[in-house]
Amino acid sequence: MSDQPQPPPSPERPIRPPRAETREVVELRELKTAQPDLASAVDLQIALADIQRRLQSRVPLPWISADEAWLQQQEKAGRALVRFGDIPIEWSDFRLAFRQNADVLLRFDALEAADHQAIVALAREGNALEPIVEQWYNATSGTGAKRPEGVPASLDHVLVLALRPFLARCAEVLRARTTLTVSHDVCPFCGWEPDFAVITPAAERHLICGRCWAQWPFASLTCPFCKNDDRARITSFATRDGRYRVYGCDVCQRYLKAYDGRRAPRPVMVAVDTIATLPLDAAAMQRGYK
Ligand SMILES: [Zn+2]
Ligand SMILES: [Zn+2]
Repeated sequence: MSDQPQPPPSPERPIRPPRAETREVVELRELKTAQPDLASAVDLQIALADIQRRLQSRVPLPWISADEAWLQQQEKAGRALVRFGDIPIEWSDFRLAFRQNADVLLRFDALEAADHQAIVALAREGNALEPIVEQWYNATSGTGAKRPEGVPASLDHVLVLALRPFLARCAEVLRARTTLTVSHDVCPFCGWEPDFAVITPAAERHLICGRCWAQWPFASLTCPFCKNDDRARITSFATRDGRYRVYGCDVCQRYLKAYDGRRAPRPVMVAVDTIATLPLDAAAMQRGYK
């Protein structure tokens, strides 16, 4: 402790109480204390969550023009319900979030400097970004469109992050309007792959989209990546505290992590649980899964 008297706060900048932290950020900080090895991953996640939260409050409610018959028909066919035109993108907000996400990824060494440069250039060049985002969304939501060419592969990561708040709002609205009637191995709303899962208190497994974070029910012991449903060829193991579980598929060798919500003190928090389970990725890979 220093004996130096602290200078009084300058009159132009009154002291304001710090903004209340979101539950996610509180949990992330606790995780960092409990597992210092994860510090850098946690700090990255907090920085990304901050961009996301600021944008979320500005995303308007989407106006989904599709009628009920079309939605039910898409759902039954396993095609994404969110069309690009329904996503309420405000381009100046999007461009800012796009650049901020790229900057944060660069700062945490999650993006190469050359890729970062190419990616932020896209955001700067007038209207270059809009058609790329549209083409990328169409290509990755099962419409059969081709992916944009001549862009770095790491653009995916930045686009997923920047589009998430807009897309999540659409998924929310459509979730309330649509009944899911068939089994979906990709996100029923945006067509992206599941990236995580949660076991509900009723012991159902819900998959969680890696892009819009929507949840949907899916058979517990079926692999969503190759549809293998031979229980003998699904390896499932839990963490010692029972909080998380890994499902490894012995047919396609891919794996999926899950939060076990059956006896958990809180609901799944994707931003927290995907980081808390980073050690499980290593364990799964050690067993030969990818
Ligand atoms: Zn999705
Ligand atoms: Zn599989």
